[in-house]
Amino acid sequence: MPTEAVLNLIGGTFQAASTDRFEDVFNPSTGEIIAQVPLSGREDAQAAVIAAGRALSSWSQTPVIDRARVMFRYRDLLEQHFDDVARLITRENGKTLAESRAELRRGIEVVEFACGIPSLFMGRSLADVARDVDADVMRHPVGVCAGITPYNFPAMVPMWMFPIALVCGNSFILKPSEKVPLTANRIGELLLQAGCPEGVFNVLHGGRECVDALLESPGVAAISFVGSTPVAREIYRRGAEYGKRVQAAGGAKNFCLVMPDADPVLAVQALAAASFGCGGQRCMATSIAVPVGDAADSLIDRLAQHAGSLRVGPTHEGDDVDLGPLIRAQHVERVCSHIESAAEGGATVVLDGRRSEPGGGFFLDPSIVDHVAPEMDVARTEIFGPLLSVIRAATLNEALRMGRDCEFGNGASIFTRDGYAARRFRDDFPAGMIGINVGVPAPMAWFPFTGWNNSFFGDLHVQGTEGIQFYTRQKVTLTRWLKPTGDDPRDPVWRGS
Ligand code: NAD
Repeated sequence: MPTEAVLNLIGGTFQAASTDRFEDVFNPSTGEIIAQVPLSGREDAQAAVIAAGRALSSWSQTPVIDRARVMFRYRDLLEQHFDDVARLITRENGKTLAESRAELRRGIEVVEFACGIPSLFMGRSLADVARDVDADVMRHPVGVCAGITPYNFPAMVPMWMFPIALVCGNSFILKPSEKVPLTANRIGELLLQAGCPEGVFNVLHGGRECVDALLESPGVAAISFVGSTPVAREIYRRGAEYGKRVQAAGGAKNFCLVMPDADPVLAVQALAAASFGCGGQRCMATSIAVPVGDAADSLIDRLAQHAGSLRVGPTHEGDDVDLGPLIRAQHVERVCSHIESAAEGGATVVLDGRRSEPGGGFFLDPSIVDHVAPEMDVARTEIFGPLLSVIRAATLNEALRMGRDCEFGNGASIFTRDGYAARRFRDDFPAGMIGINVGVPAPMAWFPFTGWNNSFFGDLHVQGTEGIQFYTRQKVTLTRWLKPTGDDPRDPVWRGS
C-alpha cells in the first residue's frame, strides 16, 4: 500500500516538496512504515525563506496584543485536540501515551507563557538623560527565524521556540526531525486555524541539505537548534560564520548522585523514571548513577528489581505499558553494542534488556551496568537509550570530580537529606539544571533551559525571558525636545505644578 508523502507547509498552504528524495517514517512500536518524508532541497528552503520574509512586514507591525491573541486561540485548539496530537506523537515517536501527553502539556505551557509576552515585551525609558533629552529602549523582532529540532520531543521542542518567536513579531520556519514529521504538520495546521497569517509559520521537511540552505540564506536572521552535540557545535559555528544569531542545545550525559542518607523509595523510583522514561531518549535522562559511600549495593538491588518489573511494549494501542520502543532498529543495535563493550571492559551487567526475539518494533528493555569506570566509553558517550551505568564513589568529592571530568553539562541530580551535601552539589556540580531530590530537573516554560559546556552553544537559552531576548533586538532612541520659539507660556513654571 502506498504510504502518505508528507507535505511542507509554506506560505499558508501544504504543498509537495520539489524533490524526488524521500525517507521512510516508521511506527517504532510495529516497525511499519507510516509515511514518507521528503528530503527538501535548496529550492524548497528558499521558497520557505521567501514566504516567511514576505509575511514579516505585516506581522511585525501587527500589535503585539493581537499576535498574543493568536496564541490564546492556539492554546484552546491544542486543548481541544490534545488527545489526537498526543496519539500522533506516540505513533511516530513510540513513547507512551502518558509521556506524549506530558510532553504536549509542557509545550502548551510555553504557549501560555507566550500569551503574556505583551507585558514582557515592554521597553524602558529614562527622562532627562541629558538636559531636555529623553532616552528609551524598545524591543524589535529579529526577522525570519528558523528552528531545527530533534526526534525525541516532536511537539515540545518546536514549542520551546515558535510561540515566543511569533509573539515577538518574527516569522518562523520549523525544520523538524525527519524521523517525526507528522506532529510538526499537525501543530502547524492548528496554528493556521488559530489565525496565524499565511507565511508567518512554515514547516520545511528534510535533513542536512535544507538546513545548510537555511544557514547560508541571508534571509534568515536567527537559528534555534536542539539536537546532538556534534551537529549543535557545527550549526553554531556555521551560523556565526553567516552572521546569524544562534542558540544551539546539544547532547548530554546526566549524573544522579545517591547519598547514603537518601530516601530509598524516592531515590529508586525517581532514578528508574529518569533513566528509563521515554526509553532513555531524553536530553535530561539520567545515564550515570553514582551511589556514594555504602549506598550502592541495596540501591542497585532495588533498582534492578524495579526496572525489571517495568512493562515494555507497543504504545500505539493504549495506556497499559510503562515504556515504549526506541526510535529505530539501528538505535537498538547501537545501545546493545554499548552493553556488550561495557561488559567486555569489565563492567557487570546487572540487568540485560537485550531481547533474543525483538519482534516487529524497535524494543530494548531497561538495562543496568554496574562497576563502570569513569574512563570507559559507556560512561563518556551519550547513548540515548534505556541503559544506566553505575559508577560507585567513595565520597561526595569523588562524585563531584566525575562531573568536572564530563564534557557535557545539561542536568544533574542528588538524592539526600543532608542540606550541606545538597548545597555543595548545587554550587559545585558543573551542570546548568540541578535536581535536589528531583530526578528530571527540566525547567518549565517560565525558566530558561540552561545547558552548560558541550550541552549548549550560545548565550541565550530557549524558554522564558531568555527566549524573548533571543528573538528580539533592542533599539535605543535619544530624543531632544526643542523649546518652542518665541514666548513659551509654560516658562518658567516647574513641570510638576
Ligand atoms: P540530531 O542531531 O541527529 O538531529 C537534530 C536535527 O538536526 C534534526 O532536525 C536533523 O535533521 C538535523 N541534522 C542532523 N544532522 C545534521 C547535519 N549534519 N547538518 C544539519 N542538520 C542536521 O539529533 P536527534 O537524534 O534527532 O535527537 C537526539 C539528540 O538531541 C540527543 O543528542 C539529545 O541529547 C539531543 N537533545 C537535546 C536537548 C537539549 O535541550 N539539550 C533536547 C532534546 C534533545
